[in-house]
Amino acid sequence: MPVDEPVVFRRVSKSFGDVRAVKDVSFALKRGAITALLGRNGAGKTTTLRLLTGMFVPDEGEIALFGRRSHGVSARPDIGYLPEERGLYPAMRVLDQLLFFADARGMRRAEAKAAALRWLDRLELMQYAGARLDALSKGNQQKVQLITAVLHDPALVILDEPLSGLDPLGVVLVRDIVRELRAEGRTIVLSTHATAFAEQVADDVVVIDAGRVALAGPLAALQRIGGGSRVSVSFEGDEAALSRLPGVRRRHVDAGRAELELEVGADPQAVLAALVGAGVPVSAFAVTRASLESIFIARVGGERRAPRAHVAVEHAS
Ligand code: ATP
Repeated sequence: MPVDEPVVFRRVSKSFGDVRAVKDVSFALKRGAITALLGRNGAGKTTTLRLLTGMFVPDEGEIALFGRRSHGVSARPDIGYLPEERGLYPAMRVLDQLLFFADARGMRRAEAKAAALRWLDRLELMQYAGARLDALSKGNQQKVQLITAVLHDPALVILDEPLSGLDPLGVVLVRDIVRELRAEGRTIVLSTHATAFAEQVADDVVVIDAGRVALAGPLAALQRIGGGSRVSVSFEGDEAALSRLPGVRRRHVDAGRAELELEVGADPQAVLAALVGAGVPVSAFAVTRASLESIFIARVGGERRAPRAHVAVEHAS
């Protein structure tokens, strides 16, 4: 029976000399879901993904892959990996390159060629099949590298900065492809700085800050509580009551309309209850979910500060 959590990190740490790149990290990837790994530059995303591929071995903790303890075995046929740095051969022709990687993954030649041509077509690269890789633009090289990660039909797809170098149409293409991979039941983990992209594709989000998991859970749940919702209120009468509402971080009140920014974790329903309790006639009340960008900035942005407790959100509803 397939494992519901194909990847489980349990208290994993990894240092490079004095640099503790990953500290006591625990999270799981759900089967058939897309998990986005977010974090500032140097937060530890690439190190986490390299630990997952087996390229690095944890100093402490353990990683379970498909229900078994991982011992740092890279290039497993059931894993596809798009590295952050270019890992292709500049002088090799594009199709030959794909066949070379497919062969290394144990694919039969005819099957590999059919899959490679299908993917070249999907990524609008067919005209470059016979070209040397170094004749392609940066974005097109990135697309070729993406093919090497998915060509062999892996159950787990690991994408480190998949949007690197892509134009807006390329971003849409990759967005559609990762959704298709999910629809086929594959498990996908990707690191990105593009919070809007993560918001479009991710089921789950893991925010890493200075090597630690700062926030983790289903995107919908994080949006509900993670970044502070916004509430728009249309009301009648005295606006003095609006200065005494619970959980409001900022307010802008003008001519019977109020825009309220709530504190992280504050419940918009408590604001509505307080308005009604204060006898304010409310004619409209709307809640806007926090954007992933605002959640991210609220959690890891701003000047350096003391580390906060890790927040794990378990339920999507
Ligand atoms: P970015 O968004 O900038 O790509 P990241 O979140 O992927 O960053 P990592 O590349 O995992 O961050 O780096 C985490 C920390 O570990 C950094 O301080 C980095 O300098 C250090 N580090 C990563 N790999 C190595 C290595 N092979 N040798 C020494 N230090 C390393």
